[in-house]
Amino acid sequence: MNDIFSKIVRGELPCHKVAENDQTLAFLDINPAAQGHTLVIPKRFGTDIFDTNPEDLVAVARMVQTVAQLLLQTLKPDGINVLQNSRPASGQVVFYYHVHVIPRWEGDGVFSFWRPNPTDHAAFAALAERLRANNQA
Ligand code: AMP
Repeated sequence: MNDIFSKIVRGELPCHKVAENDQTLAFLDINPAAQGHTLVIPKRFGTDIFDTNPEDLVAVARMVQTVAQLLLQTLKPDGINVLQNSRPASGQVVFYYHVHVIPRWEGDGVFSFWRPNPTDHAAFAALAERLRANNQA
């Protein structure tokens, strides 16, 4: 693979490594949303949430917790956001699966979340039924 993160995994491009194990690598985001903003990636390529190997998703999740604990101990943030973008409509710009771990401090204004929409139980029941019907797992 010729993408940026594959090159980082192979050591062909530098990164500020935070942690590593056999399956995953964690390194500082080059344009951090906040101090300590870290990316966790599997060493095996996947584009996004849809095609990444499930074992790698699990390994990344475990590393995300390790990194969150490291950030909490080291920087003493008030909270942490864990964020994953899949496909351009979600904001994904690097097409190699990665999870953002972003320390947050009260009132930092780094980003705000969605505007909640009203509850619609009839629509929710129909949608949940459609989703259950499509579940092949
Ligand atoms: P996303 O929008 O979820 O695809 O986020 C991609 C992230 O990768 C952005 O936050 C970038 O700042 C970050 N990024 C891009 N290139 C590098 C790099 N060489 N090293 C570290 N982070 C990078």
